[in-house]
Amino acid sequence: MSASREVRSTCCYCGVGCGVLIETDGAAILGVRGDPDHPANFGKLCSKGATLHLTARPALREVRALHPELRRSRGAPRVRVSWDEALDHVADRFAAIVAAHGPDAIAFYVSGQLLTEDYHVFNKLTRGVVGTNNIDTNSRLCMSSAVAGYKATLGADAPPCSYEDVDHADLVFIAGSNTALAHPVLYRRLEAARARRKDMRVIAVDPRRTDTAREADLHLAIAPGTDVVLFHGMLHLLLWEGLFDQAFIRAHTEGFHALRETVREYTPSIAAGICGIAERDLVQAARWFGEAGAALSLYCQGLNQSTSGTLKNAALINLHLATGQIGRPGAGPFSLTGQPNAMGGREVGGLANLLPGHREAADPEHRAEIAALWGIDALPEAPGKTAVEMFEALRSGRIKAVWIACTNPAQSLPDQHAVRAALERAELVVVQDAYTGIETARYADVVLPAASWGEKDGTVTNSERRISRVRAAVPPPGEARADWEIAADFGHRLTSRLRPGQRDLFAFASVEDAWNEHRAATRGRDLDITGLSYAILDDAGPQQWPMPAGATAGRARLYEDGVFPTETRKARFFAWGYRPPAERVDARYSIRLTTGRLRDQWHGMSRTGTLAQAFSHTPEPVVEMHPGDLARRGLKPGDLAIVESRRGRVIVPAAASDDVASGQAFLAMHWGDRFLGGAAGGGVNALTIAAFDPVSKQPELKHAAVRVAKAELPWRLVAFGWPASGSASAAADRLAALGGAFEFASTTLIGRDREGVLMRAAAAGPPAAEALDALDAALGLDHAGVIRYDDGRRGVGRRFEVAAGRLRAVRLSGDAAAIAAEGWLREWLMRGESVEPIRRLLVVPGAAPPAGCATPARVVCSCLDVTETAIAAALPDARTLAALQAKLGCGTSCGSRIPELKRMLATREREAA
Ligand code: SF4
Repeated sequence: MSASREVRSTCCYCGVGCGVLIETDGAAILGVRGDPDHPANFGKLCSKGATLHLTARPALREVRALHPELRRSRGAPRVRVSWDEALDHVADRFAAIVAAHGPDAIAFYVSGQLLTEDYHVFNKLTRGVVGTNNIDTNSRLCMSSAVAGYKATLGADAPPCSYEDVDHADLVFIAGSNTALAHPVLYRRLEAARARRKDMRVIAVDPRRTDTAREADLHLAIAPGTDVVLFHGMLHLLLWEGLFDQAFIRAHTEGFHALRETVREYTPSIAAGICGIAERDLVQAARWFGEAGAALSLYCQGLNQSTSGTLKNAALINLHLATGQIGRPGAGPFSLTGQPNAMGGREVGGLANLLPGHREAADPEHRAEIAALWGIDALPEAPGKTAVEMFEALRSGRIKAVWIACTNPAQSLPDQHAVRAALERAELVVVQDAYTGIETARYADVVLPAASWGEKDGTVTNSERRISRVRAAVPPPGEARADWEIAADFGHRLTSRLRPGQRDLFAFASVEDAWNEHRAATRGRDLDITGLSYAILDDAGPQQWPMPAGATAGRARLYEDGVFPTETRKARFFAWGYRPPAERVDARYSIRLTTGRLRDQWHGMSRTGTLAQAFSHTPEPVVEMHPGDLARRGLKPGDLAIVESRRGRVIVPAAASDDVASGQAFLAMHWGDRFLGGAAGGGVNALTIAAFDPVSKQPELKHAAVRVAKAELPWRLVAFGWPASGSASAAADRLAALGGAFEFASTTLIGRDREGVLMRAAAAGPPAAEALDALDAALGLDHAGVIRYDDGRRGVGRRFEVAAGRLRAVRLSGDAAAIAAEGWLREWLMRGESVEPIRRLLVVPGAAPPAGCATPARVVCSCLDVTETAIAAALPDARTLAALQAKLGCGTSCGSRIPELKRMLATREREAA
């Protein structure tokens, strides 16, 4: 084995875009640490970034896509084939579909996880070879309202700020973003700035009392979807009290009079009433904004994932334009991107309505410019389908074939039953991904194995327009290939079928060639990077665009001269009134469901879901509701609840939380039906609505009307253990595949250094014996050496496998009493203690646990494995954060748990008082 070395790269999770140093011996990834020289993070990583190497362990090869697979006919299983056979098969089918139905019968659905180079090649393939604008991306679900908001007001899709503005702001106005969990390293920077500058203020706007909201100086817990009312109400007060910048408005903006008329009716009293907050809080927020020397807004999905997402973004930007809070240190409207390369996708035009270099697909001049750059006659004119429209067209049969790359629409798109019907109906589904367990892979006729983080080269752009290099540390496993290489290889094959004689659009000798071609498309545009190169990125490090030819560095801040990229060179106020969410609550569906992120999970969990440590903080799916709302429905914490919208239902344990307002419910966005299963299927997005913003086409994932009732499912099952063979993640996939046999099922990972699986299920009565036999087999509980107990009359069963004198796997089923021993048995298994002291208890339902053996405690600090129990025990002595950290070490690594530790300290203080 060769000596280890470090490879400089970028985290593949969120839009903060932290630099990482990957430790590798060339064959395997051994470790990861923050890159101290990267300007996005200066060496810091959050709990997700710090565990990246664990998600790249060789042991996880079995959940990776390693070889191309092909389903030769409907209903047949997929079989392993060569790359040539897979790509030729798809090229033949695409050519036949284009011949029969035209190019718009083909669609590509790609991802903000792709690198800029991947995006560029897919874009050429779609528009330049197939001849359709049907390419869209999961970034449509993430930031297209931010794009539309910037373009409507500032004239270009360009976030004007930098992370360093957090250091200079006097007021940070956080709207629709749980930054503490979703962009943790940026939040650490905010915490550090607040510690240095005691007069700095933070306002958080969020229906929930999130960690971000709890830490803020002022929390505006507005009713879901009423952001525009709040912003208009604040602007009304700013105008009334003269807290606006007349000179800036006159010199650098247009449309102010129309906006003033619009906000006239949004008095603080009326606005506060609609938002459901105290008028004095709205007034306070407006005054802090208007009086701040520098006001910085940070915003994300709470504004974007809405049928009025463009309007919400624009209404917030109105506040900045009216007060001149833009183009100065510490000031500006700063949209945070969710994904690592959502920004890169915007730059290359990887969305249906865009073309490379921030051009518009609908603009004939822009199409001609790109056709000339690519050396082809013309680009397609017909508008392309955006994400929701694309799957609707697939469902109606107008689109016949879809190629899905690096994303999981059968988990992440709203209205899952409609999405799955679309995938069922499609004539051909191609899935290009690194993981085989994702929900979408079930529908794949062709699987193309893709390289993943640590295995591929290219670039990404983070929220502050900073382009960073991504580098391979190890070769991809099996026959997996880089995404751009797959698209380029296919491009050659399809060109010869569809456009014989057309010049080769994919003659890239390296990934750098693809990037250089993208760079050429930015010349003269607002994001001009013609002064940048791979060599500069390698030598000088990450750079922010624009960086035109001749520049020696990228630009940190835009619009410092007050000149905006509009026809008049002035920014535009956007004067539209409030529109409520698409779905109203009524007597039948009386609860507003909101969705959001967990600290340690990422999107559909294809990567974080392979790591038991990522489940330690939030071990299992729950729906959070106000305790009063639970009580009114006869629900106690832990009871199973039916959450049902007009589109679908999930059954999920209830959790009481007074962070959630009465009349609302919260479900994390991550739980697809691999983890939150059951007969109904579809996971959390079985509930959400596909209605979208008319401008940005971004769907309203943040708001759905639901009803909640107690699930009467007396038959219960819990099974857990160390996998009999292979990885826990692969074992979890095998168990999850059985979840449809029960009305409720959840499958998660447990443990830390040693990883296991945990499955829960519930039903109205005992399921068919075959379902339990299959489950036992998946856990290795099906051989003669297994300790068994069955009471067929009561439907009670117990299975224990003991290996080397220790528990290896357990299944308990029956009524609630039959599974009551779960807690201590799980603790016994986790401790790995000899089974002898408890052997006699194993077949005695309801046996009392041995002394000192309780339910495993929840982990608060997952970096240092510090549990809630340990913290509770330390609190009487350690009464400050510093003392707690000194005693237990919790919150001293990635810092993500500091807000929670502070909350525990405050609770303890309250109780002591
Ligand atoms: Fe990765 Fe965390 Fe940095 Fe986001 S904040 S880029 S998830 S390390």
